Amino acid sequence: MITELVAVGTEILLGNIVNTNSAYLAEKCAQLGLSLYYQTVVGDNEQRMKDTIKTALDRSDVVILTGGLGPTKDDLTKEITAEVMGLPLVEDAHSRELLDAYLKQYEKNDAQRRITSNNYKQAMVPQGALVLDNHNGTAPGLIIEKNGKTAILLPGPPNELKPMFEEEVFPYLRKKQPEIIYSQMVKICSIGESQVAEEIQDLIEQQSNPTIAPYAKTGEVHLRVTAKAESEKECKKLIKPVVRELKSRFGKNIFATEEKKTLEEAVVDMLKDQKLTLSLAESCTGGAIASRIVNVPGASEVFLQGMVTYSNRAKRKSLGVKKSTLKMHGAVSEKCAKEMAKGGCFVTKTDICLSVTGIAGPDGGTKEKPVGTVFMGCCYNGKTVVREYHFTGNRAKIREQSTAHALAFLRE
Ligand code: ATP
Ligand code: MG
Repeated sequence: MITELVAVGTEILLGNIVNTNSAYLAEKCAQLGLSLYYQTVVGDNEQRMKDTIKTALDRSDVVILTGGLGPTKDDLTKEITAEVMGLPLVEDAHSRELLDAYLKQYEKNDAQRRITSNNYKQAMVPQGALVLDNHNGTAPGLIIEKNGKTAILLPGPPNELKPMFEEEVFPYLRKKQPEIIYSQMVKICSIGESQVAEEIQDLIEQQSNPTIAPYAKTGEVHLRVTAKAESEKECKKLIKPVVRELKSRFGKNIFATEEKKTLEEAVVDMLKDQKLTLSLAESCTGGAIASRIVNVPGASEVFLQGMVTYSNRAKRKSLGVKKSTLKMHGAVSEKCAKEMAKGGCFVTKTDICLSVTGIAGPDGGTKEKPVGTVFMGCCYNGKTVVREYHFTGNRAKIREQSTAHALAFLRE
């Protein structure tokens, strides 16, 4: 069912208030499995509202309008929707009763304020409309159906809209659209976005239900596998073979199949499983890798020590990097990364030490070693593997990428 959201209000158009109603409703539409194709914002202008509502009802099956349901003259949503749909306004006895009761209470509490006749305009509804009680304000919501099209009108204030949506509109739409949407995340590291895209090109081309959508994050690629079916169980059944196929293609590069699991969690889990301890010897990342590892509750079981050895002297004194290495190859070199990792394992007595040394910029780059050159060493079982990376971007970006790739390196 093609769905459209229309937020009414000049103050939204001008940016005086943020359109949180549409953000809320968009999320609900996704939960309901509705195909949300358009979101529109229109000011409190009669002609433009007419055009907007007409266009929306022409191209969408369900149009959810918010705002402009109140008693004032510029609240026109109901009147214009009724006009566009060709329905007269009639008084709704139940709404009138509720309104009378609400206004009496209001008058009692605030003697200064009088009920004005335009309050009663709120009890007028398009003929045949389903009226949704407003327990948190005066303007009732409305569901209007005609010729296979549905307009749902909701009050603007979020504290009125949300309970009304949850209590009445959600179950109504659920009945109309019995399918739900469910998705599962597959998170990949150590492979770039374009390579991932290439390897699943065929799957993406032949997909219909479920669908696969890739998202790139620094050092990671996330694939969201989304299915549409009548129940979560049915969705999971559809998703399962696709995830199995992804696992066969990306193997151990998949570090999580849950939305919430992070790369650092995957690293800590892996170290716990294999009963290995870790230390870090960081230079250009300045403790950022340690910080991400320590984000994980229970990291203390495997992470024993992090060293920020920023100066050459620190690399020598704390990690035993040779003076000659620094002199001949410099601190940003394969040899230095190797000695840092090896020295790290030696001084901390951990099973693994990962070292990082690089040029984060903006200064310090040379022709042979431009800004973004980073070496990482991983010492494990007496062997040290060193990798060279070339990152791009500003200082923060290079440090962020170094950190992410260091975690991915550890995960291997
Ligand atoms: P009222 O009876 O309060 O006049 P209404 O249905 O006529 O309600 P509006 O007058 O359009 O709604 O908006 C009332 C208030 O609701 C706004 O001042 C704003 O605080 C909030 N509001 C309206 N639309 C939105 C929106 N799209 N997102 C977030 N808040 C909104
Ligand atoms: Mg209003």
